[in-house]
This record gives sequence, structure tokens and C-alpha cells, in this order.
Amino acid sequence: MPAKSAAPSKKSRAAAKAPAKKSVTRAYAAQAPDSRLAPFQIERRELRPRDVKFDILYCGVCHSDLHMARNEWKATIYPVVPGHEMVGRVSAVGDKVKKFKIGDLVGVGCLVDSCRECTNCKKGLEQYCTVGNVLTYSGKDRVNGDITYGGYSKQNVVDEDFVLRISDKLPLAAVAPLLCAGITTYSPLRHWEVGKGHKLGVVGLGGLGHMAVKFGASFGAEVTLLSTSPGKEADAKRLGAHKFALTRDPAQLKKLKGYFDFIIDTVSAKHDYNQYLDLLTTDGVMMCVGAPPTPAEVGIFTLMGGRRSIAGSGIGGLPETQEMLDYCAKHGIVSDIEMIDIDYINEAYERMLKSDVRYRFVIDMKSLT
Ligand code: NAP
Ligand code: ZN
Ligand code: ZN
Repeated sequence: MPAKSAAPSKKSRAAAKAPAKKSVTRAYAAQAPDSRLAPFQIERRELRPRDVKFDILYCGVCHSDLHMARNEWKATIYPVVPGHEMVGRVSAVGDKVKKFKIGDLVGVGCLVDSCRECTNCKKGLEQYCTVGNVLTYSGKDRVNGDITYGGYSKQNVVDEDFVLRISDKLPLAAVAPLLCAGITTYSPLRHWEVGKGHKLGVVGLGGLGHMAVKFGASFGAEVTLLSTSPGKEADAKRLGAHKFALTRDPAQLKKLKGYFDFIIDTVSAKHDYNQYLDLLTTDGVMMCVGAPPTPAEVGIFTLMGGRRSIAGSGIGGLPETQEMLDYCAKHGIVSDIEMIDIDYINEAYERMLKSDVRYRFVIDMKSLT
């Protein structure tokens, strides 16, 4: 027979009856694939024991936000509040939180939860959770099934295991894009141990591409930017690239046939992968991180001739994201940003589609009033 439980005290009865303290938060959302982003109110959950609540100060604008807002990957749950590159300051913590305290600088990237028990989660590869991780937005909370909302908002509540420590040594707004663009390029470059003695080609100079150039150069590789935009050559070199080639000029590509040990493809739109595979040397690897909505056509003969590989890579796990942030703090690496007010977000999306971003839009959340 179960032991008789003690009668609840007056105080605990009151706590049990108290309404859940959800907080209403201002945000920007898309209501449908063809709607512009517009002001919207959301609720953040009441603090669970291991939750961290923080005021979002800056949020980067990733091309994935655009793919998702417009349902280009057919996975969006509306209304969608995009944003998975957020940095902010802790305003409250649950009573079992160990790693953070009020006032700390924190960051949250693309993930807010995972099963924590599968082999990948145990290895710190939460991005490849075999049960299914919870995305920062358009995901479903594992406890109550609520839809998750992202960083185009004033505050957020996230389990401490998915919150990153942010150094106060770097300009905070320029750190925000590291939470996605940074880790998504750092992770494959580390996995394939790209460094000294390697020739690395970076396809596309946008948010991801410019971080790939910075990391590639920082790891000691010879970096060549492969771009459709002639106007980006000087910037590419300033960011750390040693060489530049215009991919719309067949003569420039011909000279690079068989040249690269590694290529990292960050292109957001439909394009010809074979054009780049041909530039790999024997045993060369093309790492695909760009995620165009349409499937790629790959000529197998191009892979066979030179035992080349084509591979994918998705964001990064929590331990590696912290490692990347610490590496950036140590080496003074941040994103090159254009700060915007939140009411400019629809124009920012249009400019991103025209490859006109140098090199990451970051929303100043003070503008969300
Ligand atoms: P972005 O800032 O818009 O940059 C994309 C760049 O690709 C453009 O600046 C442009 O560079 C190049 N480009 C665009 N259209 C092109 C075309 N038709 N042909 C050739 N090049 C083209 O985008 P982003 O935020 O870096 O994201 C890039 C892609 O990565 C998106 O699809 C995004 O969803 C995906 N992503 C994937 C992961 C992951 O986990 N794997 C994480 C984050 C983002 P140039 O002007 O230099 O040609
Ligand atoms: Zn992203
Ligand atoms: Zn898992």
C-alpha cells in the first residue's frame, strides 16, 4: 500500500493552484508561406527547474530563416517566428540550473532539445539525434508539444543544456551569427581536419561562406573563394581568402580542375554541383552545407574519376558549438555584419536572395518595441 502522503501545506497548495507563469513576448512571425513577416505576440513557457530565461539582444538572419518562413523545405509549422542565432543576457533561472546565473551572456543556436539518450546525443552530436531533436523554431517541445518559436523576439526560455556561454571579449552583435553560420562551417572543416597543406575552395560568399573563409584561413589552409559575384573579390581577400575565381567564367574554373583537396559548398539556390566536383583532386571531398530546396543531380563518373566524395554536414552539436565559440573568443573571430532594425526584415530577405548581404544581417532587438 502506498504510504500516506503528508497533507499539503497552505503554501504548497497555493503554489499548486497558481496559474502557469507564461510570459507574453513580442516577436515577428510569418503566418503563411507567402506572407511578409509582421509583429506578433507569443508566449514563452514558465520556467522549468533547468530552464534559463534570457533577454534576446541580437539575432542573426540565416538563409534558413527565409527557406523556413516561405516553407521551401515543406517542414514549416505556422505561425513561424524564425531566428536561430541569438545572443542575450540571462534574466531568470530555474532552481536546478547549475551553469548560468542572472546577468550572464548566453547564446542559443538551432537546437533547443534532443532525446539525450541515443548514441549520437551521448557523443554530443545532438544535431544527429536519432530520435529527433527539437529545432529552435517550428519544432515541437518534447514535454508539452508546444510549437517552438525562434529569436526574432524579445526573450526566450531554453533548457540550460542547450544554452551556450558567450565571451564578453567580442562584439556581441557580431557573435550572434556564430551560433549557426559559424558552427555549420567550423564543424565539417574540423571533421575533415582541414588545415595546413590543404587547398580549400569555398563556394558562395554569404553568411556561411564568409565564416568558412575565416575558419579555413585560421586553420592554415590555402583558401580560394568560388563566387558568382565579381564585386566580392576584395572582401574575400580581406576576410582571409588567398585566391578568388568567378564561377560564371568557364576559363577561370578550367584552370582549377583537380586543384582542391576540399570544397565547402554554401550555396542556397539550385546550382550545378558537378561544376565544382571536377575541381577536386584525387580523394578530394566536397562538403555540402548549403541547402537548396531542390534535389541535386550528381554525375557519378565525376566521383569515380578520382575517388572523390560528396558529403553533407548539419550545424553542430552542443559541445562543438561551445568549442567553436571559445576558439573564436581566443582568436578574435566574429562575423562581418550589417545591423538592421526588425522592421527591415522583409527587405533583408529580398537582399539575401540577390546575394546582397555583407555578410550577415543581424537584428538589433532594441528595435522590437
Ligand atoms: P546567404 O548568406 O544568402 O549566402 C548564400 C550565397 O550563395 C550567396 O551570397 C551567393 O554567394 C551564393 N549563391 C546564391 N545563389 C546562388 C546561385 N544561384 N548559384 C551560385 N551561388 C549562389 O545564405 P547563408 O545563410 O550563408 O546559407 C546558405 C545555405 O546554407 C542556405 O541554403 C541555408 O539554408 C543553408 N544552411 C545550412 C545549414 C546546415 O546545417 N547545413 C546551416 C545553416 C544554413 P556569391 O555571391 O559569392 O556567389
Ligand atoms: Zn542557420
Ligand atoms: Zn538523441
